[in-house]
Amino acid sequence: MPYQNFFTNRQINIPYVVKIGYGKIGRIGKYLIDKGMSNVALFWSDGLEELIGGKLYKGFEQHDIEVVCNKIVQYINIEEVDKVAFNLPRNTDAIIGVGGGKVIDFAKYCAHLLKKPFISVPTSISNDGFCSPNTSLLVDGRRTSVKSSIPFGIIIDLDIISKTPKMFLYSGIGDMISKVTALWDWKVAFRKGYERYNDFAAMLGYHSLDILISMPQYDLESSEFLRNLSTSLMMSGIAMEIAGTSRPASGAEHLISQALDNICKRPHLHGIQVGVSTYLCALLQNNPAIEKMKHFLLASGFFKYVSEDPLSKEQYVQALREAPSMKKDYYTVLSEKESFLKAVHLVETEAILKKVIK
Ligand SMILES: [Zn+2]
Repeated sequence: MPYQNFFTNRQINIPYVVKIGYGKIGRIGKYLIDKGMSNVALFWSDGLEELIGGKLYKGFEQHDIEVVCNKIVQYINIEEVDKVAFNLPRNTDAIIGVGGGKVIDFAKYCAHLLKKPFISVPTSISNDGFCSPNTSLLVDGRRTSVKSSIPFGIIIDLDIISKTPKMFLYSGIGDMISKVTALWDWKVAFRKGYERYNDFAAMLGYHSLDILISMPQYDLESSEFLRNLSTSLMMSGIAMEIAGTSRPASGAEHLISQALDNICKRPHLHGIQVGVSTYLCALLQNNPAIEKMKHFLLASGFFKYVSEDPLSKEQYVQALREAPSMKKDYYTVLSEKESFLKAVHLVETEAILKKVIK
């Protein structure tokens, strides 16, 4: 049997501070002091401090929060993160990451190494990384998924999110829709005896998507949509923590995206690659949610957006070939013998795929 211990005593962490709304950046100082944290290490994406630092620091001043380390993150080599983490002042109460995926991963891993609380302040919701228990870091020059810890706090300021370019929202939509195929792959892998399954994590995964899909309309500019997309992505991260694996949020569609990242000089955003691949993999799986999902991706404008800057067919077919070897011993629909040829045929002939992969 590939696994033995069905029962585990593994500790599950959840975020203790969850704030999603307008003007939240100015209130971080209050949230910190409420939890007894007054010395913080602050990491930024390049250029962001100038844009939103004023509001953050004003809140810090009001609550006597001291910044014991303030850095812009440019590199995510694991050695670099290690060095920075172990040089942080000993009195650091919390580590804050403000910005995109790189800085969130950097700060999250620092906090994980030091066993300190991590406060995640994403400035775009283009994937579920801001609340996942994993990080994507450079190990020996390759982007690698490295186990980390779920954030202690998640603060999403919708003032900032609503001003980011639409492509980040479409990427968030694409990453979110992947629950459809990831959960299917997980269940089949379990039935074949390759994986342990967790009903609650799977249920949370399905519900996290339902929050978004069941909306009567998908207006990407509405605060309700932004709030629901943020909540969905956050719950998807928590489903991974509960499952103890990325299975609830990552199946064949993520393997294809990972292969594209390696193949393409300039890959598309993670969620764009994942969203397109989810549609393809759902067709391969004969997934019962295909129609619901197709409607969502059409009505939200996802497919239209991708068709304006489609993925390259040549690179995509290469990625399909390489995808099953991206993770060892990881069953997905692409592990089935006939899947590759079927997938290539769909890329060549299916009406929507023909527009988004050219
Ligand atoms: Zn993802």
